[in-house]
Amino acid sequence: MLDVLLPPQCVTCDTFVAEPGLLCAACFSQTGFITEPMCIRCGVPFAAAALGGPDRLCPSCRTDPRVFGRARAALRYDEQGRRLILPLKHADRTELAMTIAPHMARAGAELLHEADVLVPVPLHRSRLFHRRYNQAALLAQAVGRIAGRPWLLDALVRRRATASLGEKSATERAAEVAEAFAVKPSRMSRIAGIRVLLVDDVMTSGATANACAKALLAGGVRSVDVLVAARVPDPRLN
Ligand SMILES: [Zn+2]
Ligand SMILES: [Zn+2]
Repeated sequence: MLDVLLPPQCVTCDTFVAEPGLLCAACFSQTGFITEPMCIRCGVPFAAAALGGPDRLCPSCRTDPRVFGRARAALRYDEQGRRLILPLKHADRTELAMTIAPHMARAGAELLHEADVLVPVPLHRSRLFHRRYNQAALLAQAVGRIAGRPWLLDALVRRRATASLGEKSATERAAEVAEAFAVKPSRMSRIAGIRVLLVDDVMTSGATANACAKALLAGGVRSVDVLVAARVPDPRLN
């Protein structure tokens, strides 16, 4: 009823906007959309193109390449990025997936073009029970609809509950999620030999995406790229 009486509000502040699900002009201008220059492999933004060097790679991709092919992100996981992601993750603001998805479709256009199917990073069933939805699955569906690509929401399973990666170092993150994911046995034949685009909400060190990519490649997919809503910038590159 209130929607009829009041104009819709910006998704991250109280300003009135033309349509539901939009950012107002001020919030839009504060949103750190990721554009060039960036690492050509993992998509981490560079403050200046020269930071990438002649190979246009970030230090992580140069010294410790991940098993996934390329990764891209729509926006920086900064203060405004958190205003968009955290309510989607923890406060039942599922409609935010529709706000973020067009920006993911833009950032991941090349990856989407080559993808056969979108697969979200799964939650452990105990967490899914409490949250009632998987935000990565909502994003995969919303992006898939925009890009005209199919999704397979249950291709991966999380075999055990992992601790929050919040305060952990890159090495600790990798250890925490190692072997945590597997391809669902009944989905093996469906994903054999195809190109998967893995979808998640936030990428920090890439440990979760890497662990999922390992499981998918072990399960027989041809390749794995990664598309996330937000990316934690590398302080060495800013
Ligand atoms: Zn606003
Ligand atoms: Zn990189």
